[in-house]
Amino acid sequence: MAKTWADKKQETIRTLFFSVIFLNAFGIFLFWLTNNWQNAPADLRLVSIGDLLGLFLALSVLHQFVLQSRLPVMERYVGTVLQQRLHRLNGYLIFYLLLAHIFFVTFGHQHLHNLNFIDQTVSQFEHYPWVWLAYIAAVILIGVIAMSITMVRSKLRYEYWYLIHLSVYIAVLSAFWHQINNGLDLLSNDVFRAYWYALYIVVLGTIGWYRFGRLVMRYFIYDFTVSKVEKAAGGVVSIYISSKKPLPDDFFIPGQFGIWRFFAKKLWWQTHPFTISTGSPKNGLRLTPKAVGDYTTDLQKIKPGTKLFFDGPHGVFTTERLEGAKPLFIAGGIGITPIRAMLEGLGDKAKDAIVLYSVRSPGDLALSSELEEISKRTGAKIHYIFSENAPKSGYKGIIDKQLVAKLVKDVKKRKVALCGPPGMMSAVEQALIELGVPKEHIFTERFAFTAK
Ligand SMILES: Cc1cc2nc3c(=O)[nH]c(=O)nc-3n(C[C@H](O)[C@H](O)[C@H](O)COP(=O)(O)OP(=O)(O)OC[C@H]3O[C@@H](n4cnc5c(N)ncnc54)[C@H](O)[C@@H]3O)c2cc1C
Repeated sequence: MAKTWADKKQETIRTLFFSVIFLNAFGIFLFWLTNNWQNAPADLRLVSIGDLLGLFLALSVLHQFVLQSRLPVMERYVGTVLQQRLHRLNGYLIFYLLLAHIFFVTFGHQHLHNLNFIDQTVSQFEHYPWVWLAYIAAVILIGVIAMSITMVRSKLRYEYWYLIHLSVYIAVLSAFWHQINNGLDLLSNDVFRAYWYALYIVVLGTIGWYRFGRLVMRYFIYDFTVSKVEKAAGGVVSIYISSKKPLPDDFFIPGQFGIWRFFAKKLWWQTHPFTISTGSPKNGLRLTPKAVGDYTTDLQKIKPGTKLFFDGPHGVFTTERLEGAKPLFIAGGIGITPIRAMLEGLGDKAKDAIVLYSVRSPGDLALSSELEEISKRTGAKIHYIFSENAPKSGYKGIIDKQLVAKLVKDVKKRKVALCGPPGMMSAVEQALIELGVPKEHIFTERFAFTAK
């Protein structure tokens, strides 16, 4: 199947994004080579390498900010999943660069002054102003990276882990002060110093705008307010959001999600991701949360009139990915939310769609009346699969290879959008591959920011 325009656009923008990152790093390397390394006397070569590692360390920390900045072009074309994965890998890179930077600078000076490693470290505190800030930054960064290791992270509540992550801002400011006071490259060259300041201003400005400024601006433009809360299934509600101004047609693409902050007791201090469960900006915003923990349980009781910040849209699990082939949607449980949005978003093209929607019992079916309505209007086929209590009209069991082969005869030729619990998604993805669906035609959305 030929690549669609949307696929090509995504590839081009991703390539551009990585090229900018690479060229910037290469430019810094060239500057260091010509200004630092080539002028460094032989006995300062280790320190010079330490300087380069320090520059790359600072750059990698800025890359973490870029990856978390919610820059729309990145959200749309790089996508949250890839950004989270890069964020995680870059975290390890920062760890190694940090140790290597400290080692090379200290070891390089130690040789010069004939001191042991510890004495040299103490002497740096005495001779270089602000170096203690660098060590504060190092301790914070190592702490945050340690907390993010999967084993530790899985034992920490998301909220605590998030709050600990915020200390990185202190680390960045401390490290910046250390760089401009101790960094040879920055002290010796005005142009490079100006460039370095600009880099920080652009990155921190971007994150400040997209994570805060834009939300406030939207708050005043749209005045997003909870207008209605409706039961959608057992333990699931749909929360409708009104706005004082109609949303533009390109406000979101069906299937995308938002990060929501509701200004209500117990909820205001947290943000959580939820899919926009309507199929078109014309119908406004809506989210359909299932109660799985403290926050989502409290959210079920939210009152009409509550104001909110909407951060988004985010994500690349959208109708755009499905162009060029007939769609097959596979949903498990609350994973139906983006699928329901996409089904509506397809418009007339939904006539070719097949939906396999698996839940435990009929009481767990969410948004099914809306699915039925779209099916009636467009001809989309919907099959319900029940793992525990199946009514006569539904299939009993799970979505496996045999069932997909039976219900979707032309599965090989379809593009698949899959969303559900992690175990189900892995099993279904494997079954689809065994049935001959190319891996690049299977698009998934995981309802957790696990960046494996
Ligand atoms: C892209 C995306 C779209 C989603 N869409 C929907 C949807 O339409 N309907 C729905 O019911 N659920 C959706 N979720 C899942 C929803 O975000 C979590 O169920 C919710 O945040 C759990 O919060 P809790 O405190 O009630 O539960 P907890 O028991 O505290 O958390 C359960 C799990 O949810 C994740 N989580 C918790 N808090 C956050 C947070 N602030 N940010 C990111 N992840 C968090 C963690 O992996 C955690 O282990 C979506 C998640 C993602 C990533």
